[in-house]
This record gives sequence, C-alpha cells and structure tokens, in this order.
Amino acid sequence: MNILVLNCGSSSVKFQLLDMTTERVLAKGIVERIGAVQARFKYETEEKRIEKEPPDVHDHAEAIGVILDQLTDAQEGVLGSVEEIEAVGHRVVHGGEHLSESMLIDDRVHKVLEECIPLAPLHNPANISGIDATSRALPHVPQVGVFDTAFHQTIPRMAFLYALPAWLYEKYRLRRYGFHGTSHRYVSQRCAELLGAPIGELKIITCHLGNGASVTAVNGGKSEDTSMGFTPLSGLMMGSRCGDIDPAIPVFLMKNEGFSPGRVDNLLNRRSGIKGLSSDKYIDMRDVEEQYFKNDPLCTEIIEMYAYRVRKYIGAYTAVMSGVDAVVFTGGIGENSSVVRGLVCSPLGYLGLELGRKLNSYAFKPGSGDEGMITKEGSKVSAWVIPTNEELLIARDTKDIVLAVAAR
Ligand code: ADP
Repeated sequence: MNILVLNCGSSSVKFQLLDMTTERVLAKGIVERIGAVQARFKYETEEKRIEKEPPDVHDHAEAIGVILDQLTDAQEGVLGSVEEIEAVGHRVVHGGEHLSESMLIDDRVHKVLEECIPLAPLHNPANISGIDATSRALPHVPQVGVFDTAFHQTIPRMAFLYALPAWLYEKYRLRRYGFHGTSHRYVSQRCAELLGAPIGELKIITCHLGNGASVTAVNGGKSEDTSMGFTPLSGLMMGSRCGDIDPAIPVFLMKNEGFSPGRVDNLLNRRSGIKGLSSDKYIDMRDVEEQYFKNDPLCTEIIEMYAYRVRKYIGAYTAVMSGVDAVVFTGGIGENSSVVRGLVCSPLGYLGLELGRKLNSYAFKPGSGDEGMITKEGSKVSAWVIPTNEELLIARDTKDIVLAVAAR
C-alpha cells in the first residue's frame, strides 16, 4: 500500500511516499519558495538526489502537481501512475478540541479545520489549501488528517486551563493545546519498544528540541502535560521564540516602547530566543556550539540557559507524573547536540539518571534511524536519543484508518 504523506506549510510542501507493506520510503523531498520568483524542488530516492528550479509554482496545487509529475516521471519516478497512490496523509497543525485523534478528512472534519483557523492563522490555511489541492489532483484517493494538537487532548482540565477569566475559555477556547504531538507520540512509543515494556506502564518525558521546542510528560502512553500552550510560543527557549516569560512583559513594551500588537508578536516569536540573546548573531544551535567550544562567554551563557530550561521542565514533569522512567531527546538539537544533552542530564543524578559520557558523545548519524540509550547500564532512569519520524506515524495512522473504513 503506497501512502503519500504531505506537510503543507505557507511557502513549502514536504512529502514522503512510503510503501506501507514494508514501511520503506520510496521517495521524499520538498517544494520550497512557493509563490516566490523562483521555486526550488528537492527530490530523493534510494538511488538518486535531484534539485530543480521548476517554473510557475504559484500555490499548493501547482506544488503538488510538481511532486506528482516527478513521482510518475518515466526516468526518475518511482510510480507507474498516480493510481498507485492509495491514500494521502496530511500533517495538520491544529485540530482544536474536536479532533482528538487522526481522522479521515470528510466535510465535517474540513469544516472543523476551517473553524480552527483563528487558533493557527499561519498554519491551518496552508494545510487546508493542501487538502483541497489534493482532492482536485487525486479525487478518488482517501485523505487522512493527523493533527499536531491531537496527542495532547488527553491533558487534564486542571493542566490545560489558564487562570484567566472563565469567559475567555468559553468564548475563544483559550487554553493550552500543545504542539509537536505526532513527534512526542512517535518517540514515546519507540522508547517503550526499545525498553521492551508496555507503554501503558511507563512514565516518559519527551524533549523535542528543534527550531521550535517542547517537552511532554507522557504517562502510560498519554500526554499529561506539555510545555507549548495556546500557541507554540510558550515553554522552552527556542531558535527565535522566547518561551516562558512574565506575561506582563508585552504590556510593559506597549507602555514603555509604544509597541503595537504586531511588533510585540514579532519580538517574541521572531527576534527572541537564541537569536535575541545573541543580538541577531546566531539562531542555529550548531553555531552557538562552535563558539561554546571556543569558550565564548555569550554562547556559553546561551547554551546553559537553553539546557537549564529543559532541565526545569524535566523536574516539573517528574513531579506531575510522580516519577519518571525515561527521558527522550529528539529534534535537530536533541538528536545532535551532546553538549545540550550533557548539560541537561548531568545534574539529574539525584533522580537516578546516570548519563554515560561515552554513550552521550556518540555521534548519532542524522537521517539514518540511528538511535540508542545514553545512560549507563543499570541507571534507574534511562535517557535516549530517538530521531523523530512524524511521516512514518502519519503513514501508519493513514493506513489504519483507510483499512478500517474499507472494512466497514
Ligand atoms: P525544525 O524544528 O525546523 O524541524 P530541526 O528539528 O531540524 O528543526 O532542528 C533544527 C535545529 O537543530 C537547529 O537549531 C540546528 O542548529 C540544530 N542542529 C542540527 N544539527 C545539529 C548539530 N549537529 N549540533 C547541534 N545542533 C544541531
């Protein structure tokens, strides 16, 4: 069963085509700079890597056209025709309170996604436009939505409510939603497999540390709390987002600097985090690390601040779950930065987490599925590096849902 996984962003479409009989990736790639003067297309199979500059990619429909043409190209493609695509799985950012699991996209689900636009004004319109373009290009192919927020719908009310006037929740559904749900779900399930224990019996803290970053308390396979909130701005310090700050700071900026809502939004989302602390010099953790190794005081402070915040959430979520069995690191930083992992974990000996220095400094090979434990044999709490694989989970959900519908 061939499943096409699509991740439609505002100016890009990422894709993977998987053969779900073997879970093998047949082809993957990205169309970038949609709507710009010149789009870019990267395409990769087991045998080849291609980069092109396709003309006239004005919207998601044209980007999906480029992808389907490439997949069925007589020389470079992997499919005889688009008929060989049996289902499409979409990564969708916001499913609100009504979509608490992956779903076949029908008129009802489509309507809910539209209703969720105010909650994710940058992401949901692009996701919907990708779904609509797919319906036109592949009208008879079932489509499944896998929502970033769905995994966190198990968070109890006392943890998802903000201590704000009740009418704000009633009127706007203003509450903690959390994001990166597909990633937290994938790595927590994989961690249980690697531990050889039923996930229902495990307390796992998953740290997704990429450009955006979040930590989740996964208790018995369910999200019990997560660091992102109503938007992806809260929680950890990130590449250009501030994470947790005193909520009075935006008001201070408005009063003292005359900031408009737009400027506050820009400052907190795009000019803060690593970028803000370094006065726009760095945004990429690789560059911060390079300077850290040269004992640069600014980069040392940035990296220590970053790790401190991750550790603080690990402490908080250990308290939330009354214990922890395993901590998982994923995302570009979690998978690659032994420095960050070391600074996060070294002071956690009191919890029974004993980091193995050599195990932690092993260079996990990016993109190869390389994964493993970084704590010493016998450590009461284990820590793991597990590369996330949201596409695989989206394809698995899509396959399960399509087969279940066909069996009805
Ligand atoms: P996104 O959230 O956009 O999917 P990724 O999960 O790819 O991002 O993570 C991007 C982050 O990972 C960047 O800050 C980048 O610096 C960091 N990163 C990637 N490789 C390394 C590395 N070898 N060492 C440290 N950080 C890395």
